Amino acid sequence: MTATHEGGCLCGAVRYRVKAEPVRASICHCRNCQRRTGSAFGIGAYFKEADVEIHGQLKTYEYRSDESGRWLRTQFCPSCGNTVTWTAEALSGLRAIAGGSFDDPDWLKIDRHGWTRSKQKWFTCPPDAQVFEKGALQLPPKT
Ligand SMILES: [Zn+2]
Ligand SMILES: [Zn+2]
Repeated sequence: MTATHEGGCLCGAVRYRVKAEPVRASICHCRNCQRRTGSAFGIGAYFKEADVEIHGQLKTYEYRSDESGRWLRTQFCPSCGNTVTWTAEALSGLRAIAGGSFDDPDWLKIDRHGWTRSKQKWFTCPPDAQVFEKGALQLPPKT
């Protein structure tokens, strides 16, 4: 049985479909994700590149982690500015989909929280989550 989930950007110009369960799904509390989203944290569902189909034009913004110096490339819709997907040098072969952009945001099960040293003070991680004070990305992906 293959799980298919769809989603897209705020204006609908970019649409995607994923054809498998995510390799991992995590919340990132780093300052870059807070700035990128304008919110408390980023939600990333990581899939194998081959399991993600994207339709529509994306623009890319590349920056480097100030901790590791490795690149991250966020990709967003040029008309509404919504970051829909990104890739990271630390996670080669995987593509992240922004968790809030799924048509049904409830199916995603978050299993880890990264960079909690910069998490917003009012937020408490669920007791069953894997919690990392720094990056959760450095660990090898689950197989
Ligand atoms: Zn858009
Ligand atoms: Zn982050």
